[in-house]
This record gives sequence, structure tokens and C-alpha cells, in this order.
Amino acid sequence: MASSSSTVNPFETAKQQVDIVADLIGLDKGVREVLKHPKRELTVNFPVQMDDGTYRVYTGYRVQYNMARGPTKGGIRFHPQVTLDEVRALAAWMTWKCAVVNIPYGGAKGGVICDPKHMSKNELERLTRRYASEISMMIGPEIDIPAPDVYTDSQTMAWIMDTYSMQKGYSVPGVVTGKPISLGGSQGRGEATGRGCAYVIREAAKDLGLKVKGASVAVQGFGNAGSVAANLLFDEQGAKIVAASDSRGGIYKADGFNPHALEEHKAKTGSVVGFPGSKPMSNEELLAAKVDILVPAALENQITKKNADKIQAKIVGEAANGPTLPEADTVLYEKKIAVMPDVLANAGGVTVSYFEWAQDIQGYYWSLDEVNQRLERVMVQSYNDVHKVAQERKVHHRTAAYVVAIQRVVDAMRLRGTYP
Ligand code: GLU
Repeated sequence: MASSSSTVNPFETAKQQVDIVADLIGLDKGVREVLKHPKRELTVNFPVQMDDGTYRVYTGYRVQYNMARGPTKGGIRFHPQVTLDEVRALAAWMTWKCAVVNIPYGGAKGGVICDPKHMSKNELERLTRRYASEISMMIGPEIDIPAPDVYTDSQTMAWIMDTYSMQKGYSVPGVVTGKPISLGGSQGRGEATGRGCAYVIREAAKDLGLKVKGASVAVQGFGNAGSVAANLLFDEQGAKIVAASDSRGGIYKADGFNPHALEEHKAKTGSVVGFPGSKPMSNEELLAAKVDILVPAALENQITKKNADKIQAKIVGEAANGPTLPEADTVLYEKKIAVMPDVLANAGGVTVSYFEWAQDIQGYYWSLDEVNQRLERVMVQSYNDVHKVAQERKVHHRTAAYVVAIQRVVDAMRLRGTYP
């Protein structure tokens, strides 16, 4: 996975995005200010015993951005470059994302500054359990429901569910989503982000008159979301995957490759690098590759003013959160590149998280087919809602998605009124 540029503060980006839409739909100053502030944030510093017996102090955050539409929802990331402002931005994006796909949640996010690649499983378990305990006063099925994000997974969620349940004295599966199936996880959750992204790309391609069958695809960040999007574009839509990357480098194969084989190679070697028959490709080259579809599935701040002009894809499907800066959005729009924004293109993950939570609360579980059919309905409907606004207002899809989302959030805020 490419590292995010440290020069751009993602929360500044998030606030800028709100301003653009607030101007467009004429929001008054007070409402605009509320939308640019997180409602609640917690910083925790806590010790973890390492395998060699020493202790290290870690810092973690949980930010609940806006809860007008329901309990807050959003993942937890473990990454050395986590900052409070990054978590704030991600929590804001979760708020808009849940509103775009019209699920009854506000937005939140959490993060711990750590380097999971250099920690043992036992160290990660102790870190996760202690962090979960530190934030336990602000999470719960009716309050705020965490999920996996960068470098966290279903095992992380199992530990959080267990820690929270131990404190309560009974099992509370609905406190987190993205759990293993045997603990109340949902069918289809693991691949939901990539699947949702593939549906959105399919719908956008239809409107552009682009045939996905045979179209070339580059994936930046061949991880949870990126590899699934590649697999599904390949398996279900006949696309030709030609480039992929991860934190260690990228690869290119002009006549395309089977992404499942690349997945196996990565599982064996730890990276896409060295995939048989491929040529090495840098991150910048991958973004600028002559492909029809580009899927940024790594971190924030990847498409900037500097490289936006070099992008050649016709569709950019943002499986990552915040890969494109606002200044780059304008450049891409002028180049007539259809950017399917993160809050729409990667919303399949939180949508199936919502299904998981609903199943946990009912204690009644659905089949994989039911999950995928409902996911497809939500993604197609949300794409159509956003596309309609983009056409009507003659704006790019990010602004359109924000118009849809912010109108829904503001509507809920107005109906509830201001307490007291
Ligand atoms: N971390 C994912 C996201 O950014 C999923 C959040 C969730 O399922 O709550 O959308």
C-alpha cells in the first residue's frame, strides 16, 4: 500500500469538501459550522506489554463525527501514520458515506498509531483488547459500532467483541461488524467493499457507454478492497486486469493477468512484486497507466494537482478513502474522467456492516445470495441518486454525492432541532 502524502491534512480536505457543497446548496453559516466539527472525540494513551516483557505506550483515537441520522459507524485502522486529523476526516467521510447509501447511521472512525507489520499476533491482541477497553465507554450497538479498516480484520473485531462482552458479562455481537461468521458476522461482509465498488464501476460504465468486458484495469493497493474489486471485475464482468501494487511496489502485464493468481502470489510472498511474467511498475506509473479503469484502493492523498493531469483512465473507482484531493477533482472533471467517489464507490463495506448489525440485533441470519442481492440494490440505487444530481447540477460525482449526503444529514438535523 502506498503511504499517504504527509503534506496534506485530510481533515482540511474534508472541510473544504463540505464548503464546496455548502456554497452550492446555500447552507447557512451555523449548519455549515456543525458539519465541519466532529461531535465527540477521545484520545487514549495506554500501555501494552510486548513479547519480550517490556511495555510500550500507544496512542489511539475514536471520533464520532455526526449522529443526526443514528448511531455512529466506522472502522478502526492500525497504522504508523495515524493522526487525530486523519481520524476526524475519515469520521466525516463515514457520515457522508452512510447518508449516500441511506443507511440509518452517523459517522465515526478510530485509529491506533502502531506498526502491525512488526508486531506479533499476541502483541496485536493485547493492543486491540486494551484499546477496546479504553474506548468501551463510547461504543455499543446503539451508540457507535466499529468495523475493520486499514490493517485490521475479522480477528481484530472478534477480540473487540470479546473484550466488550466480557465487560458487560454477556455476548454483544452487535457492538462491532466485520466479525467472523461464527461470531455473528454476515455472509459477504469480507468482500463487500470490493463488490460494491465493482457494481458502481459497472453502472458508471453503462452511462459512459464503456464496455467493461475487455476493458483494462489498474489497481493501486492490492489488499482487502482492491483484490476483491479486481477479482469481481475479472470474474463477473470480463475486465482485463493489467496492473496492481501494494506497499512494496507495483507490477504490470500488458496482456492482463488472472487476479486470483496474483492473490496467491501475494499470499505466498507477502507482495505483488515479482509476479511471474510481469514487469515492475512504480506507484506514479501505475496511476498514470493507459487503462480504462483505475481503482485507487490504498490510502489518502494519492491523486493530487501534480499527477491528476497524467491520469488516462476513463473511470476512477475509489475503493480507498480520500485518495483524490479536491484540486485534483477539478482537473479530472475537466478531462471528462468519471470519478466514482469513495463515499459511494467503497460504501459496500459499511452497507453490509449495516446488514450484519441488523442480523445481530434480530438474531436471524441471511444467506449469501440475500446479502449480495440487497447490496446490489443499495449500490445501484445510490449510484442513480448521485448520478441524477451530477447531471442536474452539472457537477462531478463527488460533489453530487456530497449534495445527496449533506441534504440527508441536514434534513435529520433540522427535524431533530437544536437541544435544549
Ligand atoms: N472501514 C470501512 C469504511 O471505511 C467500513 C466501515 C464499516 O463497516 O463500519 O467504509
